[in-house]
Order: sequence, then C-alpha cells, then structure tokens
Amino acid sequence: MTQEQEIFAALGLDRKALSGGDLEVFSPIDGAKIAAVKMHSAKDAEKIIAKSVKAFEAWRSVPAPRRGELVRIYGEILRENKEALGQLVTLECGKILQEGLGEVQEMIDICDFAVGLSRQLYGLTITSERPAHKMREIWHPAGPVGIISAFNFPVAVWAWNAALALVCGDSVIWKPSEKTPVTALACQALFLQACKRFGTDAPDGLSQLLIGDREIGAIMVDDQRVPVISATGSCAMGRIVGPRVAQRFGRSILELGGNNAIIVAPSADLDLAFQGIVFGAVGTAGQRCTTTRRVFVHKSIYAKFVGRLKKAYGKLSIGNPLEAGTLVGPLIDKQAYENMEKALKAAKKHGGVVTGGGRALAKQYPKGYYVNPALVEMKGKVDNVHEETFAPILYVFSYTDIKDAIARQNAVPQGLSSAIFTNDLREAEVFTCEAGSDCGIANVNIGTSGAEIGGAFGGEKETGGGRESGSDSWKAYMRRVTSTVNYSDKLPLAQGIAFNVGD
Ligand code: NAD
Repeated sequence: MTQEQEIFAALGLDRKALSGGDLEVFSPIDGAKIAAVKMHSAKDAEKIIAKSVKAFEAWRSVPAPRRGELVRIYGEILRENKEALGQLVTLECGKILQEGLGEVQEMIDICDFAVGLSRQLYGLTITSERPAHKMREIWHPAGPVGIISAFNFPVAVWAWNAALALVCGDSVIWKPSEKTPVTALACQALFLQACKRFGTDAPDGLSQLLIGDREIGAIMVDDQRVPVISATGSCAMGRIVGPRVAQRFGRSILELGGNNAIIVAPSADLDLAFQGIVFGAVGTAGQRCTTTRRVFVHKSIYAKFVGRLKKAYGKLSIGNPLEAGTLVGPLIDKQAYENMEKALKAAKKHGGVVTGGGRALAKQYPKGYYVNPALVEMKGKVDNVHEETFAPILYVFSYTDIKDAIARQNAVPQGLSSAIFTNDLREAEVFTCEAGSDCGIANVNIGTSGAEIGGAFGGEKETGGGRESGSDSWKAYMRRVTSTVNYSDKLPLAQGIAFNVGD
C-alpha cells in the first residue's frame, strides 16, 4: 500500500469514491494524482438542497443539548482520527504535518466549544414600557447553512461553521475547494460515523457535500432555501457571492483575503518579534489568510533587525511537509508559483530589494512548486503594498512615527489581522484603541496568524466583515424572534398612542 492509500484506509474512505470521477486531485507535495472524485451536477445540487431542508425541519426540534451530544461524539471521533486526518490535510493541501495536525486540533476545539454552547443559546429578557407586559428574545435555528471553503484550511473552516450550525439546529451543505475535496470526503465519512453512534435523532442529510467548482457553489449561493451562506476565500469570490446572497435577502458570512501587517517598535522584545514574524510570514508557505505580509520596523532598529530576518530566510528548511523538521512546504500549484514570481518582478520594478524567492527543489519535485520565501525591502517611493499575493512574500518598510506606521498599516483595502510588538504600554493601547488598527484582529506581542477558536474570527473592509468561531458568532446561524407577552386585561399601545376603536 502507498502512503496515501494507508491514509485513505485509516479514515475509512471508500476507494470507489476516489477514482473514476471527473475532478482530478493532485498532491502539492509532488504533483502526483491522488484521486479523481465525482463532481455533482446542477440536478444533484437541487436534490441535496431539498434533502437539507427536510433534515433541517427534523433537526430544529431536537433539543439543543441533545444536538450538542452529536457534536461531542464527532469531536471524540476526530480525536481518534487526528493523526490520519492531519496527514491527509498535509497530503492534499501541502501544509506541514504540524500544521495539518493543528488544523484537526482546531476542529476538536470548536466541537468542545459548540458542546458547551448547546446549553447556552441564551436570549435576553427586556423590560417593557407597558404595564403587565414581558418582552424576550428567542433564538431559533435559521435553516440550511451553505458553507464554501478555501483550499488552505480544508477542514478547520468547515468545522468552525458546521459545529456551531449543528448545535444551533441547522443542517449544513459543504462546498469544499475544488483543490481539496478528499479531506471533505474524509470529514463527511467521520461525520456519518458520529451519526451512527448518536442514533436516529440525526436525520439523513444533516450534513452533506456539494463537490465541484464555483459553478456548483453558485447554485447554492442563489438558492432561497439556504438562508445563510458562509463563504471563505478570496476578495474576488466575496465580491461575487456577497451581492448574490444579498440580492435574494439571504445572510452571508464572508471571510475573505487579508494583507496583514506587524509593527515592530523600538521597545519591542526583538526575540519575540523575530519568532512571530517568521512564523507568520513563512508558515503554511505564506498561504494563510492571516499570513504576515507587511512589516513596519522603526528606523532606529531597522538595520539590525531586518539583517537578522534576512539571515533566517537563508536557513529555512524547505521540503516535504510530511517529514519532521520541514518548516516550509510547497505552494498549492503552479499558478500560485507564477503569481509569486509576478509579484516579485513587480516589486523589483518599483525598487524593491529581494532576499530569497525563486523555485526550490525543482529537480527532486519537478511537479511540486516549492519556493524560497522572499523578503522584500521596499525602498524609495513605495511605502506600502495593497494586494494580497497568496505566497510567502514579506514586504519590509521602515517608519519613524507610530501614528504614521498605524496609518500605513490601515491604508489597504483588506482588514483581517494586525499586530504590534512593543513594551510601551501607551503604544500598545493606541494600537488597540478606536483610532488604532482597523482590523478584525489586533494583537500585541504575538503575530498575525494562529488564532484561537474562543474569539470571534474575521475582518473588516474587503475581508468581508463576517465573524466565525468563538464569542457570539453563533448568532449568525440563528434567527432572532422578539416576543412580547401581555398578561393584563388592557391593550396599551407602545409610545402611548391612543387608537380607540368603537364597536
Ligand atoms: P477562492 O476564492 O479561489 O476559492 C474559495 C472557494 O470559493 C472555493 O471553494 C471556490 O470554488 C469558491 N468560489 C469561488 N468563486 C465562487 C463563486 N462565484 N460562487 C461560489 N463559490 C465560489 O480562494 P482560494 O484560492 O481557495 O483561497 C485563498 C483565499 O482565501 C485567500 O484570499 C485567503 O486570504 C482567503 N482565505 C480567507 C480566510 C478567512 O477566514 N478570512 C480563510 C482562508 C482563506
């Protein structure tokens, strides 16, 4: 058995579902074909959505703590399969095994969170202005939730959405990235195991897959029976999906691109800043939405600190992401490599001085796109970079005034993650105050990437404004009812309006 066959078998993946289909799947590790799965047709999509509506109608009336029990069992099954699923994540999207395992851990964490949440879907009781009246808020399940996910977090993003949606009483339909359908098939196989252990309360079709490209995703996006669409991917995708969902008065949760920056102040603990920046910039080969793409270093420490970063860039261990010790795996595909080359060429044209860059390990892996992460010192007139290139390119700038650094950090279309390294309390508080970072994530003395599930995750501006995962993100998966009860024998109107109707 090959390594991939062993992984497939360990996860109970049906061999037949992995061959003979029209969607070919290649591992970024060496470009080898690992599967050919069947894409769904428009007709299939119709059936899947209809089935999801039926499942929702049954599931919404199962008590929420009982719904939580299913998610608890799923979390247990994920614990049992963490190693194999983590390996599959690595095999299919190319992130290093430590990060593949981390992604599965994130799934487990959100399951734990959702189990607790299943007993805490609280509404408010609100005082009424009218005598002998009570007002309350009740949260009800919203309906089938459509989840569209990106290749770079092939399992965790689905789990963030699905674990919450399921305890909230919704059914889910998952359109994974066309680049990573096998991990989705594995998650679904494990979910069906959980349903079996759970019993008959889990209706058929509670969680389903919709396999295919953007065209198939668009069918779900346009369908009124799917009131919530959670879409993770590029800003270009969100620009299409957002208005299409809005046009039919659906609700979208958009989790789009980032252009994240770190400010390194003169008082910073430079060892921490160094670790945080390198992990943020080269981890996942620069293919995280929260990847550190820009650094603003104070002029007084620039030469020494940037020198240290450049040295580290020369020593990164690039290689097979399944092997221990590798820090940087491959890019997802040739297109990603070409985009990186294009961005570096443009940077050079504008006076950027590039350390690193270029293809690595091309002889060993002619069909695998490994690259040397690049650090680009933008000197001269260019004092910012506005686009997200989904590759390990770190643009470095110097600054003299903290206000200017924050303004430049904010002066991009995206607003996902940001950080400052400083030991100056005033600077730290300015960075996180209303006039500071305009991002959804603003960290102090930790980097831009590697969020915990307990907080609400997401960003502003072209990042889409959606929030997922912890805090009160669950509210987006439910509908709110305000209910006023009159227990008097009169019918006073709000605002004291007189409206006397004679018999
Ligand atoms: P992508 O936009 O190419 O694709 C993402 C998903 O959207 C895929 O499943 C794709 O099939 C689907 N899609 C694309 N156009 C669609 C349409 N018109 N209708 C319906 N579905 C459509 O993104 P990608 O290359 O897979 O991922 C990288 C991007 O995702 C980066 O920009 C990254 O920053 C972003 N991302 C954001 C977050 C976040 O939480 N903010 C997380 C991960 C990735």
